[in-house]
Amino acid sequence: MTHLGSIILIAVYAVLAIALLYRVCFLYKKIKSAYKTPHPTHSPIYDDGVGVFFSHTIAGVLHTVLVLAFITMTAHSISSLLGIENELWDIIASVWAVGAIIAAMIFIMRRCFIRPMRFSTLSPSQRLDAYTILLLEIVSGATLIASIYGLQGFDTAHYITLASFAVYITYSKHLHIITAWIYRYLNRGRGVYDMERVSGVCAMMDMMEGKAASIDASTTTMGASNANELSRLDVLGVFSCTQCGRCVELCPPYLVGEEFSPMEITTRIRYSIEKGVNFYPDALDDNFISMCISCGACRAACPVGINPMKLLWEVKRYAHLEKGYMPSSYHTASQSTQNSSYPLPTYLDKR
Ligand code: SF4
Ligand code: SF4
Repeated sequence: MTHLGSIILIAVYAVLAIALLYRVCFLYKKIKSAYKTPHPTHSPIYDDGVGVFFSHTIAGVLHTVLVLAFITMTAHSISSLLGIENELWDIIASVWAVGAIIAAMIFIMRRCFIRPMRFSTLSPSQRLDAYTILLLEIVSGATLIASIYGLQGFDTAHYITLASFAVYITYSKHLHIITAWIYRYLNRGRGVYDMERVSGVCAMMDMMEGKAASIDASTTTMGASNANELSRLDVLGVFSCTQCGRCVELCPPYLVGEEFSPMEITTRIRYSIEKGVNFYPDALDDNFISMCISCGACRAACPVGINPMKLLWEVKRYAHLEKGYMPSSYHTASQSTQNSSYPLPTYLDKR
């Protein structure tokens, strides 16, 4: 390689390394800026969708192959850059690379020919993301094999592909291959209808009613409009969504044709964290936040254990308590309750 070529290559590595460092710092800062997650106050009401790993064994194994292959290829590339060469290590990395190529091609064919219903719930950009990551996995595997077996220039192509893969993943929904495991572990024991976050509202009401002289500012959350007002675990959960669509399949408003889904909740919150805009009303408007009926089915279906319903509660609490938003149906319920002590309009209201 010429002198100029080496300089360009080093510059490309440097840009990718800076981009990766920037993204890791950005994500760390977002999670760190949220407040400490309170301890769970309830045990789970029912189990979550983690059983999908065992009920869909083939897909579970193939996903695991993709993740482990990515980790192995990265470790192999780092050791090669450090000058650590070993024939057995090359064979192990090649086997994982072949596994990654096969697994990625099976997923592509499944999406093209079998078309799982969940895939139809994705937007065009989410589909593009799903295919891009599989193609990157194939290219990473192919360039690794070519470089191990001595094809000129493929080691450079492999390093660049892998580094681009690492940067891309921080923008992609596939960030979950790193975050979902951490989230699942930290989220263990949290209940579907855990009301821990209402403590701030209760403390505020106590103060307004004169039962308490002051309140602890750190517990007085009145919902969330940005990442700082969510707990760290909630922010990590947003970045752990796999966009698998399992929650969508069970969501009653989605099933009756509303433009609403639990996956959309996590997607929109992630979008607003990335763009630095308010959750409400910029990313989740009045109509959207009024759709959820708090049935909890999304949490039950989620293999990662994310609870989109609770995330939406935070946004709704902010909209109702901080911004005074009230759907017209609530006015009707309030009026009826005043008239007849019953929230649904009855004949008493018409007298
Ligand atoms: S809790 Fe809300 S978002 Fe979740 S499935 Fe039920 S209606 Fe849909
Ligand atoms: S919230 Fe859970 S079930 Fe819904 S799309 Fe994300 S990972 Fe899948």
